[in-house]
Amino acid sequence: MEAPESHLERQMRAQEVQLVWVRLGMVAVATATLLIFARQIVGLPVLLGILAGVALFSVATGWLIRHFPAREVGVVSTIVDMVAVTLAVYFASGIDIHLFYGLVILGVALRFGLGASIWSSIVMSGMYVAVVLTVRTGEAEIINELPVRVAYLVGFGVAAGLFSRIVIGRTTENARLQQRLAEDERDRARGRENELLSQLGRDFSASLDRDATLRTISSGAAPLLGDATLVFTVDEAEHRLLPAAADGRDHTLADAWLDAARQRPARLGEGIVGGVAATVTVRLGTAADIETGDPDALRALGLAWLLAAPIVAGGRPLGVLATVGRSSNGPDGRVRRLAEAVADRAGPALQNAQLWSDLQQRMAHEQTAQRVKDDFLSIVSHELRTPLTSIQGYSQLLEGRLRGERGAESKEMSHLRVIRSQVGRMRRLVDDLLDVSRIDRRGGVSIETADFDLAEEVREAVSRMGREHSTRSIDVTAPETLPVHADRDRLDQVLSNLLENAVKYSPDGGPIRVTAERRGGEVEVCVSDTGVGIPAEHRDQVFERFYQADDDAGRRRFGGLGLGLYISRAIIDAHGGRIWVAPNTIDGTGSTFGFRMPRVAMPLTPAGIAPTGEPPPFVVRRREG
Ligand code: ADP
Repeated sequence: MEAPESHLERQMRAQEVQLVWVRLGMVAVATATLLIFARQIVGLPVLLGILAGVALFSVATGWLIRHFPAREVGVVSTIVDMVAVTLAVYFASGIDIHLFYGLVILGVALRFGLGASIWSSIVMSGMYVAVVLTVRTGEAEIINELPVRVAYLVGFGVAAGLFSRIVIGRTTENARLQQRLAEDERDRARGRENELLSQLGRDFSASLDRDATLRTISSGAAPLLGDATLVFTVDEAEHRLLPAAADGRDHTLADAWLDAARQRPARLGEGIVGGVAATVTVRLGTAADIETGDPDALRALGLAWLLAAPIVAGGRPLGVLATVGRSSNGPDGRVRRLAEAVADRAGPALQNAQLWSDLQQRMAHEQTAQRVKDDFLSIVSHELRTPLTSIQGYSQLLEGRLRGERGAESKEMSHLRVIRSQVGRMRRLVDDLLDVSRIDRRGGVSIETADFDLAEEVREAVSRMGREHSTRSIDVTAPETLPVHADRDRLDQVLSNLLENAVKYSPDGGPIRVTAERRGGEVEVCVSDTGVGIPAEHRDQVFERFYQADDDAGRRRFGGLGLGLYISRAIIDAHGGRIWVAPNTIDGTGSTFGFRMPRVAMPLTPAGIAPTGEPPPFVVRRREG
């Protein structure tokens, strides 16, 4: 916004220039008069010389005014005028040109107002009296008229000063008012612009869909910019710019431009739009600037100008906002400013939309990859199960025969036992894999519930574990009976997994304690060991699939697939219970795994599982009896 001082300065400068022309005009008139009455005038060469000096100074004022403040140039001009007039009065003894003092006073009044005008008239009167008294002592008529002439000069000073104050003062005031009004209007326009831009910023970010965001950018910017506006996106892989959305007052032009840009996408660095994307700076080009080719199709579309601003986020050019016009006047400063402001706001919105679309694409890829993996897992597990079942069956058959022929303690029998145990292990692994693939496909495991005694089930599982690991001491605390309504096989699977882990992860052979108890309408089972334990920061992860803790060197110390706890959690979830791990309470080393569930299983059906045609995961089918 322009400061009032500079506005005044401009006015004074204009006035000074006008006075130069007035002075030159007067010099011309005076020269003509002198030449006409040349014979009667004494000291004609001196007078002509003075006029020439004034003319020269007037011409020099044009230069002075460009290099010095107008007020100072005005003061110097006044002094020059006063000296010129005084010299003329002094030398032109044939004519009395004291009236010229009046013109000097008028100049002062116009420049500096009433006070300066009165002072200058007094000074001029003094100079005039001094000149007359030294030069014209013999001319009684002039001496007698001196008081009248002095009164005239002073009176003229006052009148000119008042004139300047009333007329010029009012003009200045008017100019000031006009300027203030213009400034107010500009402020209001800026305010409206800012409001509009903030609204645009909000609109741009309203959607995370990339295409929708690009359309909003072009439709939001179009009414503020040229005849048509086009948003390009940067295709980094192909090094070119792809037109994404177009809009504008001139719809036909917007469509034609979009078509032209689609048919021939600009390369980075090529033309105005390509140049903006490559240099990340705003550029304005006109049809007249085109030297070779017409990469932006300015001529082809009959355009006069094209203004393009980069759409940047995080220092990276994401696109270009370009606007065009058919008027040869080119875009005004407002269009330029708005194009930049709109492009600035479009950057973050486009970046967010781009990130979101990348994320969605990646998620879709991952989901596909996961599905392929799950399918593979399911097929492989099924295929492995069949041969394992026959190996197990035939080894049982062989075992029966050999027991009769060679006796239970024969070498062949012990070999067969090893085969059976290893096949059993493999079956468990394959079953785990199958379970995992089911959980992933359907979101959980299905259970079949019946009434049974959990205390008995716990004791059975412990004694089975005791037979398999005869050196381990496993202590059970459980009530005589603990009736529940749940899936017996699945709970047995959980108990076996917790007990096997307790044995496996306490390699020094420490004691294992199992407790089962009733807690209101729920039952709770805990398995504690004094083994290697689980660091607090990994406790949440042990229930993730394929999780296995590493030792300090990042190696896996124990065998296994890291699936047991993942499946156990799915089973307990299916019963409406929860499973957890905590530090062992026996002596602070090792861990305690526990689960708690309702005595009558209350499966929670998770929301949002799409029907697959298979039975839903948590359906409870009550067994008869
Ligand atoms: P797996 O034992 O086959 O690796 P699990 O799902 O049963 O798989 O266990 C996951 C991981 O949790 C194990 O690899 C182990 O690091 C940790 N973990 C499980 N039980 C115990 C335990 N009783 N003590 C210490 N760590 C355990």
